[in-house]
This record gives sequence, C-alpha cells and structure tokens, in this order.
Amino acid sequence: MIRTFLSNKCILLFLLVVPFQAISQRGTIVTVTGSIKSTEMGFSLIHEHVVTNFIGADKVTLPPDGIDSTARKLLPHFIALKKRGIQSLVECTPNYIGRDVRLLKRIAELSGINIITNTGYYAAVNKRYLPPSAFTDDVETIANKWEREFLEGIEATGIRPGFMKLGVDNGPLDSVEQKLLRAAINVSKTTQLVIAVHTGDGAAALSELEIIEKENWKAEKLIWVHAQNGTDEERKIMAQKGAWVSLDGVSERTVEQYLSSLLYMKRNGLLHRVLLSHDDGWSVLVNGSYEALDLFKNGNQKPYTTISEKLLPKLRANGFTKSDINLIMVENPSKAFSL
Ligand SMILES: [Zn+2]
Repeated sequence: MIRTFLSNKCILLFLLVVPFQAISQRGTIVTVTGSIKSTEMGFSLIHEHVVTNFIGADKVTLPPDGIDSTARKLLPHFIALKKRGIQSLVECTPNYIGRDVRLLKRIAELSGINIITNTGYYAAVNKRYLPPSAFTDDVETIANKWEREFLEGIEATGIRPGFMKLGVDNGPLDSVEQKLLRAAINVSKTTQLVIAVHTGDGAAALSELEIIEKENWKAEKLIWVHAQNGTDEERKIMAQKGAWVSLDGVSERTVEQYLSSLLYMKRNGLLHRVLLSHDDGWSVLVNGSYEALDLFKNGNQKPYTTISEKLLPKLRANGFTKSDINLIMVENPSKAFSL
C-alpha cells in the first residue's frame, strides 16, 4: 500500500517537475504569446492595464466575445508604443478585476508588443475583489491553484502568467493578506515568479518584507507596487534590503514628484532597485461588455506616454545618464520578471 502510494507520488512528481523544468529555464520571461529570453524584454512599462472591471468579485463577468473589435479599437495605442521603442508591457489586472488573457494575447499578436499577465488574488479595497474561497482555502490550496495556472495556463487558454499580483491595504497585513502572501511565497519558491503587491502604505510594504524574510525567501522576489505612497526613507530601506521599489503612477501632474523621488534614489545609489510605470488603462462601463470603455482618470490624457514624453526628458536634464535610464527601463524590468 505504502509502496503503491510512494510510486504514485513519484510518478506525479515526475509529471509535475519534468514539464516545469522544460518551461522555466533561467533567464526566461513568460508572456501571453509564449516565453522569451530576458534579454528580449527591452524597454518596458512594468505596471499598466489594458481593460479592467471594478464591479466586484461577486458580479464580474468577462465578455464572451468582442475581443477582436476591442483589440482593434485599442491597437493604435500599442502600435504607437512600439514605434516609441517600448517592447514590453506588464499587465497588472488581477483575476476578478476583469483579467482577460485572450484579449491581451490578441493585442500582443496584432501589435508585436510583449504582454505579461499574472496569477494571484487582490485583497486591497476591503477585499471586495476576492472570491469567497480566498477566505476559506488554506495556504496550500491557494498556492496550488496559482501554480496550476502557471503550469497549465489560465482558464484552459494555455496562456501562462509571468508574475504574481496581490493587493493589500495599509499595514500591518491582516490574517487574510498574510495568508495570500504566504501562498505567493510558496509558488515563488517553486516557479521563481516575482510577487508584485499593490500596497497601501510603507508600513504594509515593510510588513510584506518581514514575512518574506521569515519564510526564508528572497527580497528580490518582492515588488513593492505603488511605492510612491511611501516615504523616501521607507523606499530606501526596502531597496537596501533588496526588494523592487515600483514608482508606478507617473502622470502629467506628478512628474516633479517622481523626479524628486528618483533623484533621492540616485543619490543613495539605489537606482538598481527602481521600476517605473504609469498605471494607465481603461475600465469597462457595463459589466460583461467591452462596448463602452473609459480611460483611467489618473492625469494622463494619452495612455502609456508620459514617461517617454515628459519624465525621461526631465531626468536627462537633471543629470540622469543614458545608462541610468537604461537601468531603470530595460535592465531592472528584465531582472525583476526573469524566472
Ligand atoms: Zn494598477
């Protein structure tokens, strides 16, 4: 009996481990159209959205069709990105907020931009985007669900996530947020996926890092999403400990604030831990339909462009070298998302 059980377990392990090794060679980035080498990621926007739906986990439905027409409608923005030299876009819309990997794949195919999608659950905003099972499942059950998406693809599409996305409110983390982070750490240990956590404030970020350290996992597998909500001092501590500091709300009205935060990181020799993006995208106005889309009202009239058009010229004028900018926009993204 024990022998049968063991041999069954061995076969199962073999089946799980062999395909996994085949798809996760070191230095790989998993995109919605397949794996690429990390050196192919190029100039990247590491926190953007395509289409989101904020109606709530209990009501959200994905449109059954309309993918082609929506992809074509949004395509000009992605073609413009490609022309501007942007090669990769990390799409941070989680499951239960309208993550639609089929739409992402279509846009990636039509535009030639690498798009990277995610697995994980978003507990921020008082947990209104969590499925009921997130409250009752244990760490292992949740980790298994996310790992299955990585190994087999999302919802029978074969499209695999290239990172994990979680969301937590202000710190310290509560028990559900801690459980989800522990599940993500388990998955990160077996898959090498990086964990991007939408984080309410600096206290929450520090508490995430404490849990990662307690679980004996690497700080470099944590991305502090929305680090602009913390202080210079908190960003310095997180970066010195090895976490990624993601300044990802660049807009026309915050360019000066980002310049000041980036100058602080440069003075402290920490640009090698910094990531930069806009958090641009669209929201659906009617559940279950792409018919009416609304551009995020975050201060950017033209999505995905403010960094190239406004912030980078400002950085250059303030002493940032070509290699500083290459570090932030090319090298850091490829290191952060590499398996
Ligand atoms: Zn976002």
